[in-house]
Amino acid sequence: MTKQNVVVSDPNSGINTATFTAAAVQKPPPAPGSCINISRKTLVEINSGPRINSWVDSMRASSPTHHKCTSLSEDNTSWMVHHPSALDMFEQIISASKGKKMVMFLDYDGTLSPIVDDPDQAFMSDAMRGTVRKLARYFPTAIVSGRCRDKVYSFVQLAELYYAGSHGMDIEGPSKDSKYKKGAQAALFQPASEFLPMIVEVYKELLDKTNSINGVRVENNKFCVSVHFRCVDEKKWGELAQQVKSVLKEYPKLRLSQGRKVLEIRPTIKWDKGKALEFLLESLGYANCTDVFPVYIGDDRTDEDAFKVLRERGQGFGILVSKTPKDTYASYSLLEPSEVMIFLRRLVEWKRLSLRRQSKIQKQLEEIKASLKN
Ligand SMILES: [Mg+2]
Repeated sequence: MTKQNVVVSDPNSGINTATFTAAAVQKPPPAPGSCINISRKTLVEINSGPRINSWVDSMRASSPTHHKCTSLSEDNTSWMVHHPSALDMFEQIISASKGKKMVMFLDYDGTLSPIVDDPDQAFMSDAMRGTVRKLARYFPTAIVSGRCRDKVYSFVQLAELYYAGSHGMDIEGPSKDSKYKKGAQAALFQPASEFLPMIVEVYKELLDKTNSINGVRVENNKFCVSVHFRCVDEKKWGELAQQVKSVLKEYPKLRLSQGRKVLEIRPTIKWDKGKALEFLLESLGYANCTDVFPVYIGDDRTDEDAFKVLRERGQGFGILVSKTPKDTYASYSLLEPSEVMIFLRRLVEWKRLSLRRQSKIQKQLEEIKASLKN
C-alpha cells in the first residue's frame, strides 16, 4: 500500500488538520481506470494536443443518451448473462459471503440519490437514509463519492458511517487499531493536501472562463473540481471544452477525467476510489484477512477503480447501478437507486434473521448445559 499520512482529527474543533507525505504523490497513471471510455490516445490529446473535437467526442462517449436500436436487444441479453441483477442473485451472494465479514461501500450520486440537473439538489430520500442507517447497524459501511466530504455528509447525515470524499482523496475513517467501534475517534487521510491552493485557484478560473456558457455548473469538491454540463446545449460543448482546456494547460499537475455529463479535474496522484476502498479495509483491520467480503455499489466510471480492486483481490464483488449495458469490472447490476434500496433492505433483513437464529441456538445450548449440570 502507498505510504500514508494519517491525521487524527479533533471532533470538537470542526477543523481537520493534515500534513502531507511526499511519498504519497507519484507520477500520474498514463491511463487511469476512471477514464474507460477515453482511450490513452485521447487522454494525451486532452493534455497536450490541438483537437477540441476529440474532447467533445469523449464528452459524448461518457454521456450516452441512447443506444442503437439494432444492438440493444443483443447488448441486453449479453449484459444480463454477464452482470445479472443482484436482486435475482441474492441467495448466491449470501451463500458466497457465508462465514465472512461483509463490509459495505456505497457511492452517493446515482446510487443512493437520483441523478438530477442541479447537483446541489441531489437529496436522498428519508426511506433510503433509514435503510442505510439500518445497514450500518449490521455492517461497517462507507460512502465513497466524488463530492467533497462535507457536502456528501450534508446529504447523508449519518454519523455512524465512514466517508471518503473527492474520489477518495479526503477520507474520514476509523482510527488505526480501533476496528469498527462506534464512537471511536476518526482518522483523516488526505493524500492530496498540497494541491488545495491550486484547486481553489483553478476553481475560480473555471468559474470565470465558463461564466458565459449557459447551464454550466462548476463545483469545488475540495481536492478536485467538477464541471457539470448536464444543462449545457450540446452545441456549446466545444466552446466549454475549449475554455476548460485553456485553464488546464497552465496546470500540468492536474489531470482531467470524464463522468456522465461532468468533466473532473483532479491532482495527478495515484489515488482513486479503489485505493480509498483498500485504505478503509486496512483501517478497519481487514488488510490481510481472508474472511472479509467487501461489497461496492456505484454507478459511475470512477467506481470502476473500486470494482477492479475487488476483482484483483478476489474478495467480495462490485455492483454497477445502470439501466444500460456498460463495460465494467462489476459482477452484478441494479437498475437504479430504488433497486439499491431493496437490495440493502434484503441484506439487513437477512442479517437480522441470521443473528436472531444464532441467538436462539446459543440460548438453547445454554439451557442444555444448565440442565446437564442439574
Ligand atoms: Mg455516482
